[in-house]
Amino acid sequence: MEFEFSNVSFWEQKWLTSDLDFIVIGSGIVGLSAAYHLKKNHPKAKILVLDKGVLPFSASSKNAGFACFGSPSEIMDDLSNTPENEVWKTVEMRWKGLQALKNWLGEKEINLQTLGSWDLMENKTDTEEIWSKLKELNHALKSITGESNVYAEDKEASKRFGFENLDSAFKNKLEGQLDTSLLIQTAIKRVQDAGITILRGVEMKSFSSNRNEVILDTNYGELKSSNLVICTNGFTPDINTKTVVRPARAQVLITKEIPELKTIGTFHIDRGYYYFRNVGCRLLIGGGRNLDFKKEETTELFITPEIQNGIEEKLKRIILPKTAFEIEHRWAGIMGIGNKKEPIIKRLDARVCIGVRMGGMGVAIGTLVGQRLAEICE
Ligand SMILES: Cc1cc2nc3c(=O)[nH]c(=O)nc-3n(C[C@H](O)[C@H](O)[C@H](O)COP(=O)(O)OP(=O)(O)OC[C@H]3O[C@@H](n4cnc5c(N)ncnc54)[C@H](O)[C@@H]3O)c2cc1C
Repeated sequence: MEFEFSNVSFWEQKWLTSDLDFIVIGSGIVGLSAAYHLKKNHPKAKILVLDKGVLPFSASSKNAGFACFGSPSEIMDDLSNTPENEVWKTVEMRWKGLQALKNWLGEKEINLQTLGSWDLMENKTDTEEIWSKLKELNHALKSITGESNVYAEDKEASKRFGFENLDSAFKNKLEGQLDTSLLIQTAIKRVQDAGITILRGVEMKSFSSNRNEVILDTNYGELKSSNLVICTNGFTPDINTKTVVRPARAQVLITKEIPELKTIGTFHIDRGYYYFRNVGCRLLIGGGRNLDFKKEETTELFITPEIQNGIEEKLKRIILPKTAFEIEHRWAGIMGIGNKKEPIIKRLDARVCIGVRMGGMGVAIGTLVGQRLAEICE
């Protein structure tokens, strides 16, 4: 007979399935942070984290590891289609989220390196547009970060990094990079050390709640808990939460080692639609979703030639025009996006909360979203 939650032993029931105070769905950065902070706020609570994947299935162990809060061209793009107060509120959340991440996991533990980031402009019009708003952007960022002149033009960037076909580069001195595998492993360790169990391969198909409990239907049968916290990001449309989130696939590749690599730091091109960084002396680059938004609105973890070619074009034309390189590995992950960049953190009813729609900044905001979820679940 196949495993079912209904045929566990007395001991397994005592350990795993009975008297649950909270079930958290999703073991990405948001679910792990939510579970950890719930336990911190309720030390006696019995908490179970469920994930349908053998690994966190979507973004938290597949991302590029940028510790960023916004490049000038991306923020200006956002300001052109979103009310100003909303844009800065989201930037502030990313900044605070990065501080929360450092406090939770430790800078060394995730190998956080604040080497700076560069926003690369391919033409004069884009450069002039940034210059026209630079003072304003820096003023707003000072009130968020406490630092003056967060953005500044770096006239030597192309020469120093060996780029071609660029008009200008603007440096953000406060952004950095981290090791994604260390981040997810450290977060899992924090959660397990706090006495929380993570069960993998368990998919929540649907849920219903009443005055006393939440009942989950999973691929291994029914589970009951006093509260449910949903952190399913790009997979949220698969369960009925009436929350508007769309999946968005993000594709990346990494080169083999390039001993003479000069590209040390994190970089953005085209309003953040392309991003690249060094990983030791390898170069990791991702993006190109803007080449076919519709096709990339999927939870299929495939890579496609169109997007991969778009990424390689940037590599050959701008980033490594004179350096021979070979691709070592390519992969894709699933983000959760919507009509706004702000994440959704809310109560669905008296027993169910949800924290989703992290966009391309979940590394930055994920810890804080989990913390806030833990607060509203009380
Ligand atoms: C290629 C790529 C590059 C990125 N680069 C960066 C970056 O450099 N910096 C940055 O800040 N952000 C980046 N992001 C975004 C960031 O990784 C995400 O925003 C963040 O990881 C989202 O975390 P999460 O916990 O909300 O969701 P996820 O990590 O997506 O976790 C959700 C989990 O829920 C599980 N799940 C879903 N449905 C169910 C269900 N019904 N039952 C059980 N389990 C379920 C999934 O298996 C998954 O493990 C990138 C994303 C990708 C894909």
